[in-house]
This record gives sequence, C-alpha cells and structure tokens, in this order.
Amino acid sequence: MRKLYLRQCDICKNGMSLGYIWDDSYYMCGEYCYQTALIDNALWFSDNEHFKNAEDKLEWIQEVNHQLYVGWEPQDNWAWLYTKEGMVVEEHEINFGEDTLVYAEEEDDWVVKETLITDDLEELLA
Ligand SMILES: [Zn+2]
Repeated sequence: MRKLYLRQCDICKNGMSLGYIWDDSYYMCGEYCYQTALIDNALWFSDNEHFKNAEDKLEWIQEVNHQLYVGWEPQDNWAWLYTKEGMVVEEHEINFGEDTLVYAEEEDDWVVKETLITDDLEELLA
C-alpha cells in the first residue's frame, strides 16, 4: 500500500505532511532534518554580528527564518503528492481506493492521520 504526502522535505527529499517550515518555502520533515538545517544555518550566519551577539542563538535562527511548525491537511493547496521516497505523484497517477493520504490535523497539537484516497477526492478536499 502506497502512502502519499502533501509536501517534500528539502533536506532528505522524503514526502512529509508535518514538520518545520522556514520563510514559507523551506521544509524539514523531522528532528534529524531540522537539526541538519539548523547546523547549516548556524554556519551560514557564523560571521553575522547579530547572530554572534544573540543570547539565544536557536531563537535567533527561528525568528530570522520565520519558523513555523505545521501540518498540512487535504484541503491545503497542492499541485501533486509525494511518495515517502519523495517521488512526485500527479492527480491522474493516484491509485484511487488503494493509495493512502498521510495528512495532519491540528487538535491540541498536530496529529498525523491517514485516510484511504477513494475515487471521491472531491469529498476529501471538501
Ligand atoms: Zn527530511
């Protein structure tokens, strides 16, 4: 059974539906990829005076990147889906009744959920 995701991680390239996002455009799927991005970013800013003088460097990086921790829901905008391995799956390539959509819903915290993609995609997106 194939699982499909709504976004793609910019570090490991895997499909994801919950994680960190920087500047509305850079995705990180989990703790490992997030920390990898943090290290890259800290090196990038190593000569930056504001970064060097920041008391809380983690907070500084989070702020400068407009960091959010978010999940994506089926009705969120998407042009195509991704497999776990990060392969693009366009709408006409979805195996309706077989593929599962992995998405996230905000309850008290973000919760990852799965649903079978039936031939009634419209209903899922409603
Ligand atoms: Zn990743």
